[in-house]
Amino acid sequence: MKSIQENGISLYIHIPFCKTKCPYCDFNTYQGIDNLMDPFLDALRVELELWGKVLGHPPVNTVFFGGGTPSYLPEGRLGEVLSTARDAFILDETAEITVEANPGDLDQAACQRMLQQGVNRLSIGTQSFNNDLLTLLGRRHDADTAVTALEAARDAGFTNVNLDFMYGIPRQTMAQWEDTLAKLTDLAPQHVSLYALTLEEGTPLQSWVSQGQLPAPDQDLAADMYHRAEDVLEESGYGHYEISNWSFPGCEARHNLAYWLSKHYLGVGPGAHSCLNGHRFWDMDSPRGYISQVQKWREANPAPLSSITSEALESIPQVGGQEHIDPDTECGEAMFLGLRLLDGMDLAKASARVGRDLETHFGSEIQGLVADGLLEQKGSQLRLTKTAYLIANQVFTKFVG
Ligand code: SF4
Repeated sequence: MKSIQENGISLYIHIPFCKTKCPYCDFNTYQGIDNLMDPFLDALRVELELWGKVLGHPPVNTVFFGGGTPSYLPEGRLGEVLSTARDAFILDETAEITVEANPGDLDQAACQRMLQQGVNRLSIGTQSFNNDLLTLLGRRHDADTAVTALEAARDAGFTNVNLDFMYGIPRQTMAQWEDTLAKLTDLAPQHVSLYALTLEEGTPLQSWVSQGQLPAPDQDLAADMYHRAEDVLEESGYGHYEISNWSFPGCEARHNLAYWLSKHYLGVGPGAHSCLNGHRFWDMDSPRGYISQVQKWREANPAPLSSITSEALESIPQVGGQEHIDPDTECGEAMFLGLRLLDGMDLAKASARVGRDLETHFGSEIQGLVADGLLEQKGSQLRLTKTAYLIANQVFTKFVG
């Protein structure tokens, strides 16, 4: 793989605050800790500055503010973080800079501010255009607010907007989904992400279902919803480029593509994951712990790293865990990340990147999956068949032991 300096990195910035916690969500995000915003933003600034220094100020190709709810930060704070990132790294002039936003936070003034700060892509957590389902999901916006948010973003000048939706929600009907898809295609955002609701262990939604207060999601209906969305979005000019993602031509999410193409990425903020030079590591989840440990890193005044090693990562106080990616793991990951892209993966290119012939290494697995009609191969190009999109995880398990 090319070096960090040659290829640049993608930068993920985790903002762990939400105004309210949705009952289905198990992300590392919290409500009721707004008193930590100032010390958190100070720690984030320090972490960005120190990573810039220890990595030798590498180029950054994409920035993604995720969470949590980055749009919930007080006015001006996102701009400060971006300005720190600009000082700490070489931010490519054409970098894609995305902010995840709650529809309730987006009016035209907020969108204009973000544009002025350099944000050029919004990802709006819409989830549904049905108000009953939005209430069930504990969202703090209604369908009209989501439409108004998209209009505000457009009026302010955003030309690259993603809308996120969920399907397979308890009590959701096909008619409701059809209605959401119709509104979505009328609004025609440049990018659409559709996720099947999963019942995450320990969430209120999961306990409501296990106690019988809500029906479990209907998996067959969810599959029908996915297939219906495939048809509707294709008819409306969207390209289906990843299992859960569609876009107009040229509007694919560059930040997420970096993950699927196994490129270098650095994550900052509580629980954020990084993968640099064959090492995966992550910051500790606790926002309070993160704030105090970053302070320790500042006091240690770290020198530039000549290489990323386990020992070097162990000396970074806020790093909560790490793993060295061994060659077998690297091969498996190249397969399951590359195959998420629906054009598939170029086995020759991926083999050159990981330094091993993947077609030989996974010969029997590939042949078996092709025989089962779940993969198709043309020359060096390998991809999922349409039949496999909804059971892709079963395919991927063949490549990871
Ligand atoms: S707004 Fe998003 S990150 Fe926050 S609790 Fe809801 S789903 Fe989770």
